[in-house]
Amino acid sequence: MTGSIVLFGPPGAGKGTQASLIAEITGKPPVSTGDMLRSALSEGTELGVEAKAFMEAGKLVPDEVIIGLIRERLKEPDASKGVLFDGFPRTILQAEALEEITEVSAVISIEVPDDEIVERIIGRRMDPVTGEIYHVSFKPAPIEIHDRLVQRKDDTEETVRSRLDGYHKQTKPLGNWYGERGLLITIDGTGSILEVGALVTSAVNTL
Ligand code: AMP
Repeated sequence: MTGSIVLFGPPGAGKGTQASLIAEITGKPPVSTGDMLRSALSEGTELGVEAKAFMEAGKLVPDEVIIGLIRERLKEPDASKGVLFDGFPRTILQAEALEEITEVSAVISIEVPDDEIVERIIGRRMDPVTGEIYHVSFKPAPIEIHDRLVQRKDDTEETVRSRLDGYHKQTKPLGNWYGERGLLITIDGTGSILEVGALVTSAVNTL
């Protein structure tokens, strides 16, 4: 399959966690706009400066900024056989722009109810050395790396509520948009990482 795959779902649905698995199965490089923006922010680039206030408030970064970022990323040689999008597109405008740039072969939607999202996000921790994502109760990190774990600045309860609100207003309609195009595959994301991983694997194997 030469097209790209989109991982769709609310913040905290497990998109980043499952992205590594899908990348391994398909060989497509994961492209996370959230990760790209966080690197820009920590490097203090112009893009980072532009995105900072939106991200810290849990609001979406303007479409034109994100579309420009993706347009550049897809010019890289590793993107020639399609990529795995995580956290992009998040608005219908972004999806329309993406249609002009590259082919989307499938959209895998990981569904998790809001009340579970908040618990998941607040307990989320990241290892800055490996990029691995852990959870204080659901996926505890090895004790020897506890000291270096970091929590995303936007993983607070207040910001999560704002991100969820934005998801329902701006991003969720995109699920129907892809459904109308026959591209949407829906997965129950409420199980354990391994259970969801098994569902994701069988969905990817049907592509
Ligand atoms: P994520 O890691 O995907 O949850 O993204 C973290 C934050 O980056 C979001 O809350 C937004 O502020 C911003 N962001 C990431 N991807 C996008 C996107 N496709 N469109 C707009 N903002 C985005």
